[in-house]
Amino acid sequence: MAWDFSTDPEYQAKLDWAQDFVRDELFPLDTLDLTEDQMNQLVRPLQARVKEAGLWAAHLPPALGGGGFGQVKLGLLHEIVGQSRLAPLVFGNNAPDSGNAELLALGIEQAPDSEWQRQRWLQPLLDGDIRSAFSMTEPGAGSDPTLLSTTAVRDGDEWVINGHKWFTSHGSVADILIVMVVTDPEAAPHQRSSMIVVPAGTPGVTVLRDVPTMEHPEPHFGRFGAHSEILYENVRVPVENLVGEQGKGFLLAQQRLGPGRIHHCMRWLGQSKRAFDMLCERSLSRYAHGSNLSDKQTIQNWIADSKAEMEAARLLTLQAAWKMDTYGVKAALTDISLIKFYGAQVLYNVIDRAVQIHGALGLTTDLPLEYMYRAARAARIYDGPDEVHRSTVARRILREYEPSEVPSQHVPSMRAHAQERFADALELHTSNL
Ligand SMILES: Cc1cc2nc3c(=O)[nH]c(=O)nc-3n(C[C@H](O)[C@H](O)[C@H](O)COP(=O)(O)OP(=O)(O)OC[C@H]3O[C@@H](n4cnc5c(N)ncnc54)[C@H](O)[C@@H]3O)c2cc1C
Repeated sequence: MAWDFSTDPEYQAKLDWAQDFVRDELFPLDTLDLTEDQMNQLVRPLQARVKEAGLWAAHLPPALGGGGFGQVKLGLLHEIVGQSRLAPLVFGNNAPDSGNAELLALGIEQAPDSEWQRQRWLQPLLDGDIRSAFSMTEPGAGSDPTLLSTTAVRDGDEWVINGHKWFTSHGSVADILIVMVVTDPEAAPHQRSSMIVVPAGTPGVTVLRDVPTMEHPEPHFGRFGAHSEILYENVRVPVENLVGEQGKGFLLAQQRLGPGRIHHCMRWLGQSKRAFDMLCERSLSRYAHGSNLSDKQTIQNWIADSKAEMEAARLLTLQAAWKMDTYGVKAALTDISLIKFYGAQVLYNVIDRAVQIHGALGLTTDLPLEYMYRAARAARIYDGPDEVHRSTVARRILREYEPSEVPSQHVPSMRAHAQERFADALELHTSNL
């Protein structure tokens, strides 16, 4: 029996380095409104320092240039990385590039003929030299991907793609788009789709707009982190641009989204902690109605509740990570769904309380909280809405139960059973009275 919550000292030293680096170098940078060019210029030397520290692309196995730390150690690192908006980019595991690199690697593993994709797209992506996007959601199909309508029809040596996508994150700044398309419309619903790489600028690809959201409400275009609406009209790409095998798009998506979701949850732990620190600091600093806010019971409840929720989310997340490391992604699917909706709610709750305790100041751009609040709301929707994950968890749990006409804990039935089973002892006891 081995239960161990400790971190080995060597890795702890790396975590300490990362915490100082994020606080000293990235928190200040987060406050600047950078253009794409400025960001590239500023970020490159910082990425080099992360590489030197051996923490670059820590989600990837060493064969792909990562640290190969496994999910638990990665979770501890992401807890730090998640505190800063720019940190995932600087640490080489920015979504969607991190997930897309894993997708391309999986695709090459499953279809060795596509080995050439390694040099062409995978390696530059891993090196941070190109950007990618994952183009799956459509205005008419999101949480139920069996409803996707974008098609790819084979014409000689080419795929011809037609469809309308939106919420393709980084779509307007990406060098490649990995597009989920229906290639086998007659197959069973989960075997209809495939993924195809479409290089940006391919004729027929029109990025209509970066959709303004509550995260970035002002109209903009070509911005890092934006979510693009894209038309694919008779887009022709070579057949070899298929990722993995034809008809296995869902399987690949499942393999990509599992780890991707847990990485989000890990980063949320960091964001929650940053908001929590602000909540505590403010409670000790603000005086109103005869005492510091920290002396009011409501505020104490917020602090205690936030701490309890954060610890619960942290343990659930690390447990899911441990299951992935020990038994593989499939064994952790229930746990991943569990933390996806629970972690998103905790993130939201803690930031909301931190906003509230700051009063009007909490709503201003003088603090990072208003942005964190706006960004946190989306966590309950992307990578599967809460309701879908709750439903997944419940269905998986219910597989372990059988219906019972009489409740199995029905006391009169249990009593009758016990009376029969212990009849001798009960009689003896009665006759001794
Ligand atoms: C910030 C952000 C980034 C994104 N990035 C990408 C990206 O890079 N690439 C990409 O392809 N997509 C991306 N998406 C899209 C995201 O994957 C979808 O928004 C998500 O899958 C939900 O789909 P939908 O928005 O169409 O909602 P719908 O499918 O229309 O669902 C709407 C609501 O219906 C309810 N609902 C749905 N199913 C059930 C159910 N079974 N039981 C009960 N209630 C249910 C839920 O409340 C849900 O929120 C992003 C979204 C956001 C917000």
